[in-house]
Amino acid sequence: MALEVEKGRLRYRSEATGEDACGTGGRKEIMDKVSTDVLIIGSGMAGINAAIEAKKNGVESLLVNKGVLGKDGAATWMAGWGFSTPLVPGDSLEVIVKDVIRCGKFLNNQDNVYAYLKESLRSMDDLSAWGIKYKKKGNTYLEPYHMPGHSFPRHPKLDGFDGRMTGYEYKRVFAHQVRANRVKTVEDVLVTDLLCREGTVVGAFGLDLDRGEPVAFAAKSVIVATGGFMGCYEFTSANPTLTGDGHAAMYRAGVRMVDMEFVQFLPTVAVWPLGLKGVPNYCWDLYINLHGIFYNKKGERFMERYNPGDKDWTTREKLSRAIWREIKEGRGSSHGGCYLTFRHLPRNLVKETLDDLGNMYFKEYLNEAGIDLVYDGWEVAPGAHYVQGGARLDTKCQTSIEGLFAVGEAGSGSKDGADRLAGAALPFCMGQGYIAGREAASRAKKTSLPEIPETKDQAAALLAPLKRARGESAIELKKQIKKVMSNCTMYSRTAAGLDQALQEIRQLRKDVLPRLATKNKSVVQNREWSDALEAANMLDIGEVVAIGAATRKESRGLHERDDFPREDPAWLKRAVITLKNGAPQVEFEEVTFPLLKPSEVASVRS
Ligand SMILES: Cc1cc2nc3c(=O)[nH]c(=O)nc-3n(C[C@H](O)[C@H](O)[C@H](O)COP(=O)(O)OP(=O)(O)OC[C@H]3O[C@@H](n4cnc5c(N)ncnc54)[C@H](O)[C@@H]3O)c2cc1C
Repeated sequence: MALEVEKGRLRYRSEATGEDACGTGGRKEIMDKVSTDVLIIGSGMAGINAAIEAKKNGVESLLVNKGVLGKDGAATWMAGWGFSTPLVPGDSLEVIVKDVIRCGKFLNNQDNVYAYLKESLRSMDDLSAWGIKYKKKGNTYLEPYHMPGHSFPRHPKLDGFDGRMTGYEYKRVFAHQVRANRVKTVEDVLVTDLLCREGTVVGAFGLDLDRGEPVAFAAKSVIVATGGFMGCYEFTSANPTLTGDGHAAMYRAGVRMVDMEFVQFLPTVAVWPLGLKGVPNYCWDLYINLHGIFYNKKGERFMERYNPGDKDWTTREKLSRAIWREIKEGRGSSHGGCYLTFRHLPRNLVKETLDDLGNMYFKEYLNEAGIDLVYDGWEVAPGAHYVQGGARLDTKCQTSIEGLFAVGEAGSGSKDGADRLAGAALPFCMGQGYIAGREAASRAKKTSLPEIPETKDQAAALLAPLKRARGESAIELKKQIKKVMSNCTMYSRTAAGLDQALQEIRQLRKDVLPRLATKNKSVVQNREWSDALEAANMLDIGEVVAIGAATRKESRGLHERDDFPREDPAWLKRAVITLKNGAPQVEFEEVTFPLLKPSEVASVRS
């Protein structure tokens, strides 16, 4: 049986007859493998840019995605207007790097920050050439946004804003660039494992969701670009299908993982009306533009208690923590959030801002639910937004496994440190994409196509939930993991809570995971089946996050410990977690300060 890539899909062809051999999913053996020079797993901004760059460097790149290109759950397509790049006189790479390090509370790998952002300076030219229409006159970017934590305004505005998030534009131009550069794609393949031989990556393994067949890829270099693991939490501003599959595959393959304790939450994700549940950007934009005020169900302006100085006007982190506490302590709104309000402002100003922010579908949902933001509050709660942990990397985005690179949210490289500067994620995706694409291509040119190892065990594990006649539900298992993660690893972390999370996650892995069974036995696009594969990854992620958080005995940036409430200079080190002989091992790595020392900054912003 031969396996070919045709129009973004895998095609199974009988070698004897040349005929299509479709519709026979669920085999124990893989049929054949797809071979390429550079395999990129995940097609958000980081993966696509890496794939294009590898192709431009003269090798074949294959982009594999568990969804449909440009229509999947990539966080990139939801992004707002933040893109940190020097646009105004006085600003520079050096100034941005320092802002990133200050925000990261000095835990950043400063060499990596510099290397990735330096490379990202090419992005504005490329993004403009690819068709993103920025508000520009000649070479001057007009009225860039100035976001909190930034020394200069540096986020370019779109021409004719019209309520569109930049994510919509990314979706349009990136999908087009994949085609324009003739990058091969395979859609609807959920990669579960990396394939390695003697400490070198040789490919990847996964499930063809269209045909229900296990499938293997052989590659000279592999780039993991699978985004974050926000889907491991009960509520997220991102797409819940981002379950950290790439993180988990790297961890199981023995990659050194770093900064896994740092997860960012966005305070203003809509919880009501139901049709808008999970919508992040509009509430945040309204809050930023109108300086919204938050109330709990007792009608208290609770930020006065948490932040007596500036009250409601503060960082995402402080807001998230406060709202989370109000909800946990029983003062949440009727649908499990708090009320974001604008009643303190002239009605016409609120109306005009709503109009400025767009004529999008959200207004219709609000109207239908009888919510008029001029008078009523919008119920919002913190949702998992971004992850800072992932593969430990060098300046070339190389992981600890030969030939394996990681980019974007999967490729931490300690670029964000303990907290992420707003609008820094996307330039990092671009910068890392350029670097990894180039490096992976360079390695591929010097390497011959490797043999992949036997994949019987992976195939058996992958098919087990489908083949098992009866057992536990993957949807229920996912719910339990999310509950543990949200209760114990979100805020107010304690040794006892993290230990409980660890015990519960290990128990679920031991008792429930081996008994997962799908009720639906279809091999075609069986969501229950992919839920089962994702749940296994979520358990690995949960374990590593809990270990990272339990290890760090201080509070710093996004990591808040009730039992260690202060930042401690002795913890200017990173916990690196590696799976060795089937068990997680923690090592420490001291932080160095080649570009900016803590002593050079009078006060570190919180
Ligand atoms: C609502 C929202 C707004 C944001 N706004 C901004 C902003 O304004 N500025 C900023 O700098 N950052 C912003 N961010 C963060 C930024 O968008 C992300 O960090 C960035 O887009 C991540 O890019 P990525 O390529 O790493 O991953 P993603 O864009 O998430 O892409 C991941 C890809 O991997 C694929 N994938 C996942 N698992 C598998 C698997 N097992 N097999 C195959 N494929 C897989 C997915 O289908 C997807 O294609 C925002 C995030 C959110 C959620």
